[in-house]
Amino acid sequence: MIDTHAHIAMEGYEGGTPAVLARAVAAGVRHVICVGAGGDLAEAESALAAARQHPGVSAICGIHPHDAEDWDETLWLQISQLCQAPEVVAIGETGFDFHYHHSTPVEQEAVFREHVRLARALHKPLCIHTRNAEPETLRVLREENAAEVGGVIHCFSGTRRFALEALDLGFHLSIPGIVTFRKPGELVEVLAATPLDRLLVETDSPFLAPMPHRGERNEPRFVRETLTKVAELKGLSFELAQAATTANAIRLFGERLRVELVDPLT
Ligand SMILES: [Zn+2]
Ligand SMILES: [Zn+2]
Repeated sequence: MIDTHAHIAMEGYEGGTPAVLARAVAAGVRHVICVGAGGDLAEAESALAAARQHPGVSAICGIHPHDAEDWDETLWLQISQLCQAPEVVAIGETGFDFHYHHSTPVEQEAVFREHVRLARALHKPLCIHTRNAEPETLRVLREENAAEVGGVIHCFSGTRRFALEALDLGFHLSIPGIVTFRKPGELVEVLAATPLDRLLVETDSPFLAPMPHRGERNEPRFVRETLTKVAELKGLSFELAQAATTANAIRLFGERLRVELVDPLT
C-alpha cells in the first residue's frame, strides 16, 4: 500500500514522524508521500527533510490554495528550486478551495497557474486540491495544458461528471477515507466509472480518518481501511486492489516510490 497524500511533517502526531512511520510499516504501508504546502518555505522544507531522512518517504511541495495570498516572487523562486530535488515527486498541492475562501479566487488562480507552469518545466506531475470549484479547476488545467504532465486529483470527493473530465485530461483520482463514510457522496458512482489503472488511495492525514477511526487523528496506517473499501466497491480482492493502486502510484510518481519504508524505531 502507498499513502499518496499525508501531511506527516505537521506537528501533533503521537510520537512524531518516526512513530507514525513505524505504525505505518506495521500496517503494511510501503511508501508515504509527505505533502509540504503552506504559505511559507518551512512547510515545503520539512516535507523534503522527511523524505531525505526516511527511506520510503517522498515529498510533494508547493503553496496550498488556502495560502495563495502569501505568494511572492522570492518565496516562489525558493519553492521552485526546492521542487527540483529528486525526493520531490509532484508539485502541489494546488488548485482552488472555494469552501474556506482563505485566499481570494484571483489569488488562488494565479498561484495555481504558476504551479502548472512549474510542473511542466520540471516534468513532474501535479497534485490538485479542489473544493467547490470543479469547472474553474478544469478550465485552468486546460488553459495551462496540465495534461502534458498529468497528476492526481487528491482527496477526490467530487462529482462523477468531474471525475470523467479529469480522467479525460489524463489525471488520476486519489480516494480518501470519505469512501468509508456512511454518506460517501458520489464516490460509489465515481469508483464504478474510474478505470482501475487510474486509482490511487490516500489518507490526507491528519484529516478525515476513515471508519472505524472517524474522529481520531488520521495517520498513513489507516490507508488500509480506505483500500479495503475501494477493493469492495470495485469487486476485487484486497490483494489485487493493493497491487493495482501501488503500481499506479509508481507509474505516476516515479521509480522512487519503489523504495520501501523501514521502521525508524528498530
Ligand atoms: Zn488538499
Ligand atoms: Zn493535503
